[in-house]
This record gives sequence, C-alpha cells and structure tokens, in this order.
Amino acid sequence: MPARPDFGVRLAAERAQRQQAGLWRRLRTASSSRSGRIVLAGRELIDFGSNDYLGLAQHPQLIEALQRAASVGVGARASHLLGGHRDEHAALEQDVAQWLGRERALLFSCGYMAALGVTGTLLRRHDLCLQDRLNHACLLDGARLSGATLQRYRHGDVNEAQRLLRQSTERAALLVSDSVFSMDGDLAPLPELADLARREGACLMLDEAHALGALGPRGAGACAAAGLGAADVPVWMGTLGKALGGTGAVIAGSAELIEALVNSARSYVYTTAMPPALASAMRVAVQLAQEADDRRAHLQQLIAQLQQGAASQGWTLLPSTTPIQPLLVGSAERASALAAALEQAGCYCPAIRPPTVPTGSARLRISLSAAHSVEDVGVLLGALGQQR
Ligand SMILES: *Cc1c(COP(=O)(O)O)cnc(C)c1O
Repeated sequence: MPARPDFGVRLAAERAQRQQAGLWRRLRTASSSRSGRIVLAGRELIDFGSNDYLGLAQHPQLIEALQRAASVGVGARASHLLGGHRDEHAALEQDVAQWLGRERALLFSCGYMAALGVTGTLLRRHDLCLQDRLNHACLLDGARLSGATLQRYRHGDVNEAQRLLRQSTERAALLVSDSVFSMDGDLAPLPELADLARREGACLMLDEAHALGALGPRGAGACAAAGLGAADVPVWMGTLGKALGGTGAVIAGSAELIEALVNSARSYVYTTAMPPALASAMRVAVQLAQEADDRRAHLQQLIAQLQQGAASQGWTLLPSTTPIQPLLVGSAERASALAAALEQAGCYCPAIRPPTVPTGSARLRISLSAAHSVEDVGVLLGALGQQR
C-alpha cells in the first residue's frame, strides 16, 4: 500500500490545533421556545443570537399561512426548470420585485446559493471581482468558484477599491459588498460605492441579507434608505432567513439578468425548488415586513438603550446603527468566558471567534429583535454590568 496521506490523521491534527487555540466549535441543540427566547440545556434564555430582527419567525399569520399551504403537499417535486416552478414561487417573486422597485426577482433556496449562482453567471476567468474584506463567506466563495480574479479591499475603503479598479481598466468588473456587515453590523459606504461603480464602469452587487426588512422605507433595505435604485445597484441580493423569519433568498434586477440566471446559475438550475408552501408563507412575511414600521421603531429604541447602557458601563460596542451590536472583547478565550457568564445570567449572546472574524477581534455578537422588550435589554445590561 502506498504511504498516502490519511484524512483521519489530518482531521485529528487540525482538531488538536483548534482545541489548543480555544477555537474548536461545538454544536448545541436548542429546543423551540417563545419568540425572543431560546431553550439550551433545558434552560430558557433571552435570545440575543438570532437574526429574527422583526420577530416574524413565530408570527401567527406566518405559521397559519405555512400550515394552510402545506395541507396540499410538501415538496416542489422538481427543479424550477423541470416542473417545480409553481404559482407560489412566481407570486413571491413578483411581490419582492415590486417591494424593491426592480423589474424582476428570482428565488433561490438560500442566500449562499444565490451568491454562488449570480457570481457564477456574471463572472468569467479574466474578469475582476472586487470585494470588501469583511464580505460574507458566500460572496467570496462565489467569486473564487467563478475563476475570476478576486481582489479584496480594506473594509469600507472606497479609495482602495478605486485604486484596484484603475489598475485593470480593460477587465469587466463586479464590485461586491454586504450592505450591512454580518459580524460588525456597520453599513457599507453605499452612495460612494455606487458613484465609484458608475465612474469606473463596474457593476455593483449588494448583499442585503441583514438589511431587508430591518432597514429602509417599508423595510426595503439599506439601498432604498440611501435612495439607490436599479440603475445604481444592478445586482441586488437579499435573504428571507433573517428579518423575514423564514428561509430562501432573492436576486433582483433586470429581466436580462434574471433570465441569464434561469439559464446559467448552477445553484438555481440543478436543485429542487423551495417547497411551495414555504413560498406562500414568505409572501405573508413580505407583506408583514413592509407594514412593520412599529417593529422597526421599537428595534431602534432597543438599539439606543443598549448603546447608552453599554457605553455607561465602559464596554466598547462597534459603531453600528443596525440590530447587530457587536461587543468587542479581543481574545477568543475572554469572549468565550464572557458569553458563558452572560448565559449564567439568562442571556444567550454567542461569542464570535476566528476564523469567522480576524484574530484579536473576538466579540459577542449581540443581535436585537423587535421580539425583545425594554426589560429584556435591561436584563442583558444588568448582566454585562456584573462583568465589569
Ligand atoms: C446569512 C447571510 C447569507 C446567507 O444567507 P442564507 O440564506 O442563510 O444562506 C448571505 N449573505 C450574508 C451577508 C449573510 O449574512
């Protein structure tokens, strides 16, 4: 037998390395609970770890819509192109396109697949894909998989992005950014990115996973809040698994773009369509999210409460105006210890450690939801105060 490297040996070595650095991740199984709560190890905690920013995941109308639609069947039975594309999908796509003011929208099973599909459809081997260093993993993976040249600029640094674009004016260029960054909660410089793309003849793609529903007029996202429309952001991406309280994702843009995706996006063509009942339920979520100004106002109130309370205790929150309020800790060990102490006090605030965030910037990712009350945030602040 040849002395071939063994996968088991490799995995064991990598595990030992991660365990030594305090970076080994463990799955914890949660039991279902009320909105804004999570049950872990039999204890109900206030849940500051979810992306359910509007508290829609357990909305009675959403539950009822899913149950009603599921009474006629579960699976879509096929991919979209081979009979799986149903009325429910088409109606949801129309609702979302209208919400966002785009010509068309296309449904994917999740955001990860939407990102792979759109980058794979647009980018070719000699193209340039410019991305913010802190973009979500699916955007980076999509660019890598496409074979284009991926270049990353410093977080939010439009000047560096401009310099990189000007170095290769002969290449087709896709400029890609999260609109709200998933682990920092801050906003990308959206108007500046749109200007840059326009000046340099690049195409701008924004991922609004954490903004759709949570920000903007009628919850239409951060681009809408910044007044950026279809001409500024030709490739718009959003997901349904966060503020919309379900699962799935949407790419919105021109009919030309959408039809290209239907033809070429491998993560669209070669996969089973989302269950139609889920698409039905997500139409209700889209409606509720548009009408949720009261929930968004309550969320802003909680954000201000947390920021003021944490600052008065001397904690450093990263500068964020969104429901993602990261509390910077530094070392992975300290972040884990703080998360454990808060859990003892009844609050679930997961520690985010490398490689998800850069070394030395481990943090608690506190995410607020309209499902939280002022009292809930008060409990968290009380627990944080105990740790100073
Ligand atoms: C969560 C997230 C995704 C992935 O979306 P899923 O629907 O969960 O696969 C994509 N982009 C960003 C910025 C995200 O935060």
